[in-house]
Amino acid sequence: MIILSARKSTETFNYSSMKFYSKKNLHFLLYDVFQIENLAQYPLFEEHNKETYNMVLDACTDLSTQKLRPILTEMDRNAPDFVNGRIKVHPDMKELMQAFGSGGWINAPLSYEEGGQQMPYMIFNATIFIMGAANYSASVYPFLSAGAANLIRSFGTEAIKAAYLENLYNGTWQGTMALTEPEAGSSLGDISTSAEPTEEGYYKIKGQKIFISCGDHDGVENIVHLMLARIKGAPKGSKGISLFVVPRMRPDAEGNLEFNDVTTGGIFHKMGYKGAPIAHIITGEQDDCRGYLVGEANKGLHCMFQMMNEARIAVGFNATSIASAAYYASLQYCRERSQGRRMGTKPAAQSLIIEHADVKRMLLFQRSVVEGSLSLLMECSRYADLSRVTTGEEQQKYEAILGLLTPVAKSYPSEMGCLSTSTAIQCLGGYGFTEEFLPELFYREARIHPIHEGTTAIHGMDLLGRKIAKDQGASLNLLIIEITETIQKATEVASLQAYAASLGTTLEKIADATMHLSSLAMQGKLEAFLADSTLYLETFGVTIIAWQWLKQGLVATEKLGGHEDDFYQGKLYTMEYFFEYELPKTRSLLKTLQSKTSVTVDMQDGHFD
Ligand SMILES: Cc1cc2nc3c(=O)[nH]c(=O)nc-3n(C[C@H](O)[C@H](O)[C@H](O)COP(=O)(O)OP(=O)(O)OC[C@H]3O[C@@H](n4cnc5c(N)ncnc54)[C@H](O)[C@@H]3O)c2cc1C
Repeated sequence: MIILSARKSTETFNYSSMKFYSKKNLHFLLYDVFQIENLAQYPLFEEHNKETYNMVLDACTDLSTQKLRPILTEMDRNAPDFVNGRIKVHPDMKELMQAFGSGGWINAPLSYEEGGQQMPYMIFNATIFIMGAANYSASVYPFLSAGAANLIRSFGTEAIKAAYLENLYNGTWQGTMALTEPEAGSSLGDISTSAEPTEEGYYKIKGQKIFISCGDHDGVENIVHLMLARIKGAPKGSKGISLFVVPRMRPDAEGNLEFNDVTTGGIFHKMGYKGAPIAHIITGEQDDCRGYLVGEANKGLHCMFQMMNEARIAVGFNATSIASAAYYASLQYCRERSQGRRMGTKPAAQSLIIEHADVKRMLLFQRSVVEGSLSLLMECSRYADLSRVTTGEEQQKYEAILGLLTPVAKSYPSEMGCLSTSTAIQCLGGYGFTEEFLPELFYREARIHPIHEGTTAIHGMDLLGRKIAKDQGASLNLLIIEITETIQKATEVASLQAYAASLGTTLEKIADATMHLSSLAMQGKLEAFLADSTLYLETFGVTIIAWQWLKQGLVATEKLGGHEDDFYQGKLYTMEYFFEYELPKTRSLLKTLQSKTSVTVDMQDGHFD
């Protein structure tokens, strides 16, 4: 029994041997549920097949197991340091950034001509998932570079592309997204970093950014910020924000690097996700910080949304990764720890705790969150792939559904990841509360996800106030057609009929709640309309995950075909758990959403004392 043996410190324990994700489940989703091989009908993906996909996934698993997992606890216990104005990170990050770059892990979705592998997002995002499950902090560095480089690729001038893309994609430089300021977090329209045009074509940047992930570190030669700033004289609010490339060291025409007046004010000390630094960045103290406009002036937020949308899906994957790692750590423990006797039996020896119904409930909860979330995220990745290879109405449909699902795909795994990792701790009892076991680390890592890339509240308002309202429900209708298709298929399978009916009923009730809330908006009661948008998002999220479980249930039923198979049987039990224990929670949420109370609007500051 490895994990219960006495150990002096976690460093002596070989975490590399521990399972952190299920290859079988990933393959089930990719090949059976979402049938990724069908993408080969499109020229962009025609050279890929199951063999090439498996090679990529296996190589990613090897890198994660051999390089990322072994430094998981080291990175957590030895957080980055702020020394003489610079941030020092784990020494392995230098080699790892090179490995991420040379291995093609940063630019894989790009075309062959651009040096990429024309990899579908379903596979690229699966690699984000695998690396995140091995070591979330280490996995974030390359992903940030990918997002920054992709923005330059989409909106930058040829000169900017030539100066920055190669080094961002090959891991020599680090990319960041620099939005947040001390006075502007959720409310990006209020940023005040300024950009003053010069006759030389660049802008002089002045201001401060906080919480910038990988905003400075010694694992790379240079840091390239994709930064939001306001051009002098620009309109107030979000319509006056522009996007700039602001390097820490600016390259000249020959590629020599010169200091660009970007300094590091400090580092924040976090409760988890400690291996990646978040920095306070100061620009233009010497009036010599140059920024280069990306995209049109005053359209910066629109451009940045590309990176933010990619990042939001990635946050969903990361939250799921951490919950997956916690699930397998707790599952291993439950299979090794003996305590008490299974109810109704009287064996001499104690039972393994996995035999207790309540422990199985905790494991089922975690598995339903992990595999339900991963399924939704793969669905979103599939829509992203299909929108790359289709045109016209079909493409618009995929983009509309992806847009609608993005706040859900970010928020459900993030919020439930916190509960799921907490449940992993609970499975270990007292040991779960100690640093000798991994779940406490995962619990701390998980907590960032409902906060960064927009808090859950912001996503609730995005879903109800923008995504559903903006096209009078047209995107929602497209999504409902997709869900209805699954319900119809499930109605034809006797063992799934009850689940299909229950999902159908919940959908109808969500439609009623949406009508009710929209009527408040139409009466001009905007505050009441959005007051409970977080609850609306939660209801929507649970329902969408039920849809994903029904999809998986359909395939598992077919695969099982009356035979015995632990994996498919386990899938069906987990689906049953989700429909019996999780989906019913929407009933009380829907009741609140339609209630006449306005307590959260009426209660004022002074009433809280
Ligand atoms: C570890 C970490 C990494 C980060 N990485 C980056 C990064 O790389 N780049 C970057 O630019 N930023 C980054 N951030 C910043 C992050 O995106 C912000 O912290 C987040 O958007 C919230 O902003 P805030 O902290 O100012 O909180 P606030 O906006 O002050 O929010 C505080 C609370 O008020 C609520 N609230 C705020 N406005 C409203 C509203 N209108 N209606 C209802 N409720 C509201 C929020 O939901 C929240 O609960 C990071 C933060 C952390 C902690």
